[in-house]
Amino acid sequence: PLVLGIETSCDETGVALYGKRGLLADALYSQIDMHAEYGGVVPELASRDHVRKLIPLIKQCFANASVTSRELSGVAYTSGPGLVGALFAGASVARSLAYAWDIPSIGIHHMEGHLLAPMLETTPPSFPFVALLVSGGHTQLIKVNQIGDYQLLGESLDDAAGEAFDKTAKLLNLGYPGGPALAACAKNGNPERFNFPRPMTNRPGLDFSFSGLKTFALTTSQQHALDEQTCADIARAFEDAVADTLAMKCKRALTQTGLSTLVVAGGVSANQRLRKTLDQMAKEISAKVFYPRHEFCTDNGAMIAYAGYQRLLAGEFDELSIKARPRWLLSALNTPQPK
Ligand code: ATP
Ligand code: MG
Ligand code: FE
Repeated sequence: PLVLGIETSCDETGVALYGKRGLLADALYSQIDMHAEYGGVVPELASRDHVRKLIPLIKQCFANASVTSRELSGVAYTSGPGLVGALFAGASVARSLAYAWDIPSIGIHHMEGHLLAPMLETTPPSFPFVALLVSGGHTQLIKVNQIGDYQLLGESLDDAAGEAFDKTAKLLNLGYPGGPALAACAKNGNPERFNFPRPMTNRPGLDFSFSGLKTFALTTSQQHALDEQTCADIARAFEDAVADTLAMKCKRALTQTGLSTLVVAGGVSANQRLRKTLDQMAKEISAKVFYPRHEFCTDNGAMIAYAGYQRLLAGEFDELSIKARPRWLLSALNTPQPK
């Protein structure tokens, strides 16, 4: 069995081939430079670029893996959540190719892709585990019993962690996308200079709130001359606050569920400060943390190919109609039932 995976939910076109022998090829085209000019993703431009890049990337994957379409057993594509036009671009190409090749296709939940990305590593986590999804649009704690069995434990009531990084970076004039830029700036920051709050940690529960941190960064930046050092100090204080807050809630989720495996995925899981803080917390409670490799933290085709492979192998497939689901709850998924 060999599955072609296609990811187009936002601003990266990702294509990959995953089969019995593991990941055979993976190609990514990031639209970041195009959107940077506008300071954020322009949906219409994103759709158009996916259409332009998909077929060349698919061809590239076949060439890199030295396989042909005749060896494929299915096509998986991201069918939501995400930008509707971007989703339709990927879904149309994926569904049509599957029809032409006379093989099944399956629409994958983008966050299930993120959540399963650590499975592509040589030592994957085993079920059940607690997953922390931290990306541009989501901050969620999920109890994962097995593939498709997802129980939401808590989530952000306002900004997602990645969104908070992006907005804070913007107000510090660090450019777009903000996460990596803010992390780089924070490297030179003095962690003792500013102390940011750890939102919602002094009350019970597993929900988050990150919009206040961005405001805190704004007021702090207005109270001081925003020289290079001050900017770095604010970035560091912000990063520490996000990392600490996420670690505290992860610890709580592990204790509450009685589990000792934590999976962290999504763009923000690339953050080194967060990884350090989580590893430290896990060490204290004898838990283990699993991450995707760096390039599979943000959007990619490999995670969709992997999730599609698991579902198609279990006999799951979609009808001929093309599905794009801009809003789609992870908890609405089911475990594929082998037929
Ligand atoms: P979603 O997955 O919720 O639909 P998305 O696909 O846009 O959203 P991802 O591609 O998973 O999100 O991640 C992008 C986000 O990750 C951005 O907000 C970006 O700033 C953030 N990010 C990427 N690298 C880092 C980093 N090193 N530190 C902090 N944040 C980061
Ligand atoms: Mg992205
Ligand atoms: Fe994503």
